[in-house]
Amino acid sequence: MNKQVSDYKMSNIYSVFENHFPVDRKKDFIETVDGQHISYAELELQVTKICHYLVSQLGLQKGDRVAVQVEKSPQVIFLYLACLRAGLIYLPLNTAYTESELQYFIENAEPSLVVCRPQSMALFGKIAETNPIAHIKSLDEQGQGEIIEAASAQDSGFTTVECDKDDIAVILYTSGTTGRPKGAMISHGSLAANGLSLVNYWQWTEDDVLLHALPIFHIHGLFVACHTALLSGSKMLFVPKFDADTIIGLLPRATAMMGVPTFYTRLLLNDGFNKDVCANMRLFISGSAPLLEQTFEEFQQRTGHTILERYGMTETGMNTSNPYNGERLPGTVGFPLPGVEARIVHDDGSQVNQGEVGNLQVKGANVFQGYWRMPEKTAEEFTGDGFFKTGDMAMMNDQGYISIVGRGKDMVITGGFNVYPKEIELEIDEIDGVLESAVIGIPHADFGEGVTAVIVASDKAQLPTEGEMIRLLKSKLASFKVPKKIIIVDALPRNTMGKVQKNLLRETYQDIFQ
Ligand code: AMP
Repeated sequence: MNKQVSDYKMSNIYSVFENHFPVDRKKDFIETVDGQHISYAELELQVTKICHYLVSQLGLQKGDRVAVQVEKSPQVIFLYLACLRAGLIYLPLNTAYTESELQYFIENAEPSLVVCRPQSMALFGKIAETNPIAHIKSLDEQGQGEIIEAASAQDSGFTTVECDKDDIAVILYTSGTTGRPKGAMISHGSLAANGLSLVNYWQWTEDDVLLHALPIFHIHGLFVACHTALLSGSKMLFVPKFDADTIIGLLPRATAMMGVPTFYTRLLLNDGFNKDVCANMRLFISGSAPLLEQTFEEFQQRTGHTILERYGMTETGMNTSNPYNGERLPGTVGFPLPGVEARIVHDDGSQVNQGEVGNLQVKGANVFQGYWRMPEKTAEEFTGDGFFKTGDMAMMNDQGYISIVGRGKDMVITGGFNVYPKEIELEIDEIDGVLESAVIGIPHADFGEGVTAVIVASDKAQLPTEGEMIRLLKSKLASFKVPKKIIIVDALPRNTMGKVQKNLLRETYQDIFQ
C-alpha cells in the first residue's frame, strides 16, 4: 500500500479511513486494558448510529462545532469519527482546562454541542447561561452516557457528508505568546495527507499493534497515533493513562509505541523494563518535545531499540522524521517528510548557511487552514510565498538532518504539554503585590521542563507566600501550567530594547530542579 491523498477523489477523511479498514471487519480495532475487544465492524456500526443521533435527533449541520472535554475511552474515538463523517467540526479540549479557560473556548468557538464528563454538566450549564449551547451531553470514563445510549436505538445506515479537502475537520486550540489561545483549523485534506504519509514512511501494516497511552485531546494521541492505525487497518491497545507497569505488561503484545520523552524516561527508571519485554516491538517513536540524547542512548543500551524521533505541531501535523531504515540521529528530528517543504531562514527571510541556526518554516498539504476567526493573526504567520512560520529555531547538518534548537516563542514543554509563558504571566501579574513576572522552563528530570516563575514585587508586604500563589494559580489554570517554583527577584534582566532576557534567567536558575 503506497497511496497518497491525491489518489483519492478527495471527500470526507472518514471515507479515506474506511478505504483502509481491514477486509475482515471482525478484526480488532481496539483492545482495552479491561479486556474489551472492539472490532472494525463494531466501530462502523457505532459511528453510523452516532452520526444519526447527531444529525437526525440533535439537528446538527455541516460546519457546526462539537466541543468535547472527556476522559479517554474508545467511545470518544467513535464520537470523533462520527463528527468527521457528518461534516461537523470536532473540538477536543484538554481535561485539565478550568472554568475560565473553558468559558473562553465556548465563547470563541460557539459549539452547538458540548460533550463533557458527568461532573462538568453543571459547569457547562453555567457557561451556557451567557454563551448559549444548544445541547450539552455527558460521556463518562467508561464510555457511557446519553449520546451512546440514545445512539444505540438509531438506524445503522448513514450517507457520509461530502466534504472538500479544505473543509475544516477539527479545531485544536494552541495558546499564543499574546496570551489568548488560538483555534487552529485543520482540514480533511491535511489530516488525510499527513496520516497517509506517516503510514508509508513508518511502514505501518495491518499486522501492527500500537500501544496507545497518549491523551486523545492533542494532535499526538488523536491524529498521529489513531490515524496511523485507522489508515492501515491495524489494532490499538488502548491505555487510559501512561503507567510504566501497565505499559511493560502490554509491550510483549505490541509492535509499536508512540510517546512523549517522559514515557521513555519513566520506562528506563523501571527495573522491569528490558530487552525481553520489547522482543515483539518494531518501532518506538518519540515527539512533542525534545528527546534527550542521554535517553536515546540509555534506551538503545537497555533494549537494543533505536527510538525514532519526529517533529510536528498542531498547526502543521508532522513535518519531519528520522528515517525508518536509515540512521536515526539523536538530537535531530530527521528529514522533511515526503510532501513537506522545510527551510531555515534568517529574520529577513534569507536562507541560512548549512549548520547555522534560523527560523524554521514549512509548506505542504499538511499545513492548517489558519486560526479560527483570527485572519490577521493567520496572515502574520504565513510568508508571502505560502510558508508557515513554525516559531521554532532549527539548524540542518551536512547530511540534511534537522535539529530543533529552541523555541523562538519561548514556549515551555512540561510532561509533553505546551505552556505558553504569556498566559501564566498575565495571571501572576493579577496577584496583589506583584509588579511583573517572567515564566520560563527549567530542565526537570521527570517533566522535561518545569514551569518556573520569576517575579518582581511591587509591595513585598502584600505578596502572598509561594504556596498561596501556587494555590491561587491552580484555581485559574490547568495544573500542568502552574509554576512548580516561584522565585522573587529585585528586577528582571532586560536588553537595550527593553525585552526580558529569558535566556539569562534560564541560565541563572538552570539547577533549581536538581
Ligand atoms: P504542539 O502544537 O502541542 O504539538 O507543539 C508543537 C511544538 O512542540 C513544536 O513547535 C516544537 O516546539 C515542539 N516539538 C514537537 N516535537 C518536537 C521534537 N521532536 N523536538 C523538539 N521540539 C518538538
